[in-house]
Amino acid sequence: MTTTRDYYEILGVPRTASADELKRAFYKLARQYHPDVNKEPDAAAKFKEINEAYQVLSDADKRAMYDRFGQAGVNNAAGGGDPGFSDIPFNDIFESLFGAGFGARPRSRRGPQPGAHLKIALTLEFEEAVFGADKEISVPRLETCPSCKGSGAEPGTTPTRCPQCRGTGEVRRATQSIFGQFINVAPCPRCNGEGEIISTPCHECGGQKRVQVMRKLVVKVPPGVDGGTQIRLQGEGEAGTGGGPNGHLYVQIAIKPHPKFKRDNQDLLYELPLNFAQAALGAEIAVPTLEGGDELLKIPAGTQNGKTFRIKGKGVPNLKRSGRGDLIVTAMIAVPTHLSEKQKALLREFARTLEDTPPSEDKGFFEQIKDAIMGS
Ligand SMILES: [Zn+2]
Ligand SMILES: [Zn+2]
Repeated sequence: MTTTRDYYEILGVPRTASADELKRAFYKLARQYHPDVNKEPDAAAKFKEINEAYQVLSDADKRAMYDRFGQAGVNNAAGGGDPGFSDIPFNDIFESLFGAGFGARPRSRRGPQPGAHLKIALTLEFEEAVFGADKEISVPRLETCPSCKGSGAEPGTTPTRCPQCRGTGEVRRATQSIFGQFINVAPCPRCNGEGEIISTPCHECGGQKRVQVMRKLVVKVPPGVDGGTQIRLQGEGEAGTGGGPNGHLYVQIAIKPHPKFKRDNQDLLYELPLNFAQAALGAEIAVPTLEGGDELLKIPAGTQNGKTFRIKGKGVPNLKRSGRGDLIVTAMIAVPTHLSEKQKALLREFARTLEDTPPSEDKGFFEQIKDAIMGS
């Protein structure tokens, strides 16, 4: 594959550019388009073009031919070989061009590795979320092998230094290219980048250093926790290796609904069913509370449907401050659907007395009662 674009134009340098300018221009473009770093679909093609231009212009003889004869001059001189630079890892190109220390080295598996974070769902009863609870959970996780204490070697034996990489975990391979010699650094294949070889693997973890266990833990759920809250248990994720820190465990809280109560942040909501006699005459009614036991609530005469009453301090504890929210009771006046003959007779008599009553905001309610009596 040969580009038809002008090589100087590709590299964005003047025809008088020095070798150093060419090198810098190439570095800048290659860093932008090398397939290791640029995942755009046309990056590979672009990089090949940049590469081809640099190959020719960085070689004094080829550059002279190109300047005199253009593309035709170098196609012959280059012998049409495509050295396939896209296959050379990005870091190696720069190590070769500018010396070691450019870009990140391939990551060796040696040294401390942190453990993974874990996430687990925990569904609470409504009361548990309000009052808090100690919940036992089972977490499947990787823990440091108790038998070998994380060394991977059978107790009584010790891992030996890898003879291939001499304990460094890396192998260096020199390859020749148009840039000169490349030093290719890769994790050691013999020891898998560990730098050491376990000749007698631990019987319990098979040399893996960690074992899968089902760990029972107690989560302290604070009172007043809300659905969607995440509780972090520091260091209770998977074990790290080589002295690396453990991951964390995130417990995601969900809350089951309650048959009687709903929650509005720090307040509890309760719908109190009242019959119309209670609402009209007033009553003292036992209202259930979430902690069990009733609270006596005085319903005044003439209570309208939807009226709310507040029972102080019987709501949800505040997570951050002290104190609790309230229990908010909403009067729900139920119109009877099934009445005995005697009840109907009494209500008819009652209804007749209402004809003398001037129209009021209560009218709608009594109309409903009338409808119920008349069986509309
Ligand atoms: Zn072990
Ligand atoms: Zn090795």
